Amino acid sequence: MISVKNLTKRYGPVLAVSDISFEVQAGQIVGFLGPNGAGKSTTIRILTCYQPATSGQATIAGYDVFTQSVQVRRQIGYLPESAPLYPEMRVREYLHFRGKLHGLDRAARDAAIARVTDRCWLGEFINRPIGQLSKGMRQRVGLADAMLHNPKVLILDEPTIGLDPTQIQEQRKLITELGKSHTILFSSHTLSEVERLCSHVIVIASGRILASGTPEKLRQSVSAGSRLIAEMKGPAEEIRRGVSAIAGVKKVDLDGRDGWQRLSIEAGDGQDVREPIFALSAARGWTMREMRREVASLEDFFVKITAEQRAQSGKR
Ligand code: ADP
Repeated sequence: MISVKNLTKRYGPVLAVSDISFEVQAGQIVGFLGPNGAGKSTTIRILTCYQPATSGQATIAGYDVFTQSVQVRRQIGYLPESAPLYPEMRVREYLHFRGKLHGLDRAARDAAIARVTDRCWLGEFINRPIGQLSKGMRQRVGLADAMLHNPKVLILDEPTIGLDPTQIQEQRKLITELGKSHTILFSSHTLSEVERLCSHVIVIASGRILASGTPEKLRQSVSAGSRLIAEMKGPAEEIRRGVSAIAGVKKVDLDGRDGWQRLSIEAGDGQDVREPIFALSAARGWTMREMRREVASLEDFFVKITAEQRAQSGKR
């Protein structure tokens, strides 16, 4: 439904998006995850025809984002980070105004407004002035506006930023619900949000895609390099030598405390070295009081790339 190939965007000397490629299939909810400054908004603005790319290709529902912007805009509903709304207008009035801009006649507008009011849970607020609504409610009005022309694809830029926890929960429920009938691409700098909502995640940092796949697949790739933590009582050097010599062990760090050696052991991909370590400690008479896997979480992965991005932007 969305296809991006070798997309690059430069703002003068700043390389905001660097040769990215990805696909979003129909019916998916895809999270575009990255720290601030990663290039998310830039990509979204290109996909929604708000700005040109420097090079590359992008299509939505088969239409070219650069040469068929009218058709592309018909396929997408776009919710920018802060939806431009008119505080003095009532919600219904605003949606009529927006519907007119879409060229809908009165009957078509009434039908479209009834549909989006229902889909975006706006019923009781429909006659309220927008200025009196909470930020969360205003986001929903923005979403209703984006859906007036009944697009297949929804593109949402940080749809929960600035909302309070209750509003965030509501907004997440709404996105999940809308995902049953729309293809959704949304950006976020919050991992937990993306993990909760998405069938697929694309991780972007410093304008490059670092990883993509289901949250489960990303978690597996992150935990492939998991470490083992063990605590044993015995002579440090002997322990280090013995454990290092076990087939599959790549690296051993030792930290001695109160007569106990705390070992942090790195094994090769997919290698389970717990049994030989246990057998070694039993054979040498080293008491073992703990051995566990330290599984890296997606959170660890994301913290790492965010730190790397910060370090890089510090260098620029
Ligand atoms: P994100 O949405 O992930 O926070 P952006 O796409 O807004 O990231 O920004 C990516 C990079 O491009 C950043 O380094 C940002 O400073 C830069 N950038 C974004 N918009 C402009 C602009 N209009 N002019 C110059 N640089 C920009």
